[in-house]
Amino acid sequence: MTFKTPDENGYYGDFGGAFIPEMLYPNVDELKQAYLEMIQEEAFQKEFDQLLKDYVGRPTPLYYAPNLSAHYKTNIYLKREDLNHTGAHKINNTIGQILLAKRLGKKKIIAETGAGQHGVATATVCALMGVECIVYMGEIDMARQRPNVERMRILGAEVRPATSGSKTLKDATNEAMRHWINNPTDTHYIIGSVVGPHPYPDMVTRFQSVISEEMRIQLKEHIGRETPDYVIACVGGGSNAAGAFYHYLDEPEVNLVAVEAAGHGVQSGESAATTALGKPGVLHGSKTILMQTEDGQVVEPYSISAGLDYPGIGPIHAHLFASGRASFQYVTDEEAMQAGIQLSRMEGIIPAIESAHAFGALQKIDFKEDDVVIVNLSGRGDKDLESYIKWGKY
Ligand SMILES: *Cc1c(COP(=O)(O)O)cnc(C)c1O
Repeated sequence: MTFKTPDENGYYGDFGGAFIPEMLYPNVDELKQAYLEMIQEEAFQKEFDQLLKDYVGRPTPLYYAPNLSAHYKTNIYLKREDLNHTGAHKINNTIGQILLAKRLGKKKIIAETGAGQHGVATATVCALMGVECIVYMGEIDMARQRPNVERMRILGAEVRPATSGSKTLKDATNEAMRHWINNPTDTHYIIGSVVGPHPYPDMVTRFQSVISEEMRIQLKEHIGRETPDYVIACVGGGSNAAGAFYHYLDEPEVNLVAVEAAGHGVQSGESAATTALGKPGVLHGSKTILMQTEDGQVVEPYSISAGLDYPGIGPIHAHLFASGRASFQYVTDEEAMQAGIQLSRMEGIIPAIESAHAFGALQKIDFKEDDVVIVNLSGRGDKDLESYIKWGKY
């Protein structure tokens, strides 16, 4: 048995599948047929690797953090996804999907975005490939995340406001789905995390798995073996965590730690701690664990970090949680911000607030002196300067 891939219907244990309107069956079927074949082709591998190297700037370093290690009395390495072009891991996936879209002969790309990070990563690869790009974004999110809206426009994308419901991410997702149903033949829908109907979770996981592929090689260069004792990553939908865990999933001696945003506290009524509070249900086209009311209404999540502010998790993580293969930690706004300042002061690296949650978990784990710990530093903090300033305690 492997934790790496879902069964042919897209299930990881009890979670996954494809819960979509009948109108979308042909699109999703086409993807299902194409993605595995394409990923295995030499021509695809070559183009993907070349773009990751020359355009994205991979491999990203695996950095031994001496001051953080001394502080926590263990050995801490940082996987520097913050050094990627556009500042985070999301570009690994959008590069993969734009190549898939090209191969399927799609002329247009659509995407949905909450905080705008996935929208920017999508607009970037569309500019690179000269493909038309429409990004759906909730009207409220557009007002909150003005710089990312303008980034997408500078890159040539059209940003379409979602004006229904709460005017946030889930409404943008509905609009994108509607667009796809109405334009099934010429459009590819780029989903930004390991969520959505099968085959998206597996496809995005494979594109992000380059993170742990590099970790193995780089750790061997550092310490002579490929396996650490811990891999720690934050989880919004779960794509940076899936990529960081992937090549260690079937080695139970490697402790996998997924860190969710606890907002003002797990029990405060204002959090995004999905696995602590959620129950099985269907979200965004797959069966997973999500925060919901007694009668199944999705609960509005809260976190200081826009990228972790999501009411579900990808089905692979629901399975890692239910099976006990990964352990889950919950880090509050306050703990994350303090961890972000600590990393800035000790190592000279200002992390994205999402990534700061992964560092907030360090104090919650009892490490041994000879443990080897990898923290996936999913993104850089430039985009979060306003939040750091507003928080103010530094
Ligand atoms: C979007 C984002 C995340 C959360 O998304 P995942 O799919 O859970 O990885 C985490 N970190 C950064 C820097 C992000 O931009």
